[in-house]
Amino acid sequence: MTLEEKAIELLLRSPRLEAGTILDLLDVGDREFREMARRNRTIAKLLEARRAGELKPPTSEPIQCPVCSEWFVPYGSSRFCSDTCRTAGRFREEGRGRHRRRGCGDGEMAEGGHAKGDEVRAPARQKE
Ligand SMILES: [Zn+2]
Repeated sequence: MTLEEKAIELLLRSPRLEAGTILDLLDVGDREFREMARRNRTIAKLLEARRAGELKPPTSEPIQCPVCSEWFVPYGSSRFCSDTCRTAGRFREEGRGRHRRRGCGDGEMAEGGHAKGDEVRAPARQKE
């Protein structure tokens, strides 16, 4: 494998770089590139993933958990640092806006299809 080929493999992993930009950077011609893609399965796969929009940035940026304010690196599209916080956050969002029921007891919360009984309970303080 040539050095250019190796470099292309690496650069193609970055969703921020256009394939054209990479070729310019490395001074690789279109035809040369197509040949590489034909014999190099890694490059071919990366190109496919790019076309399908499946390429993910290798590292995510840390975000702040809206529930406990902890900074963390999200895995996938999660906005919360943990399952506990996700549950809490979901209740918060449901409690805000839309219909708000007063004095809903245990059985009343099952409307959304989830969260029936258990230890979940509407957060006590949600006055604005
Ligand atoms: Zn959290």
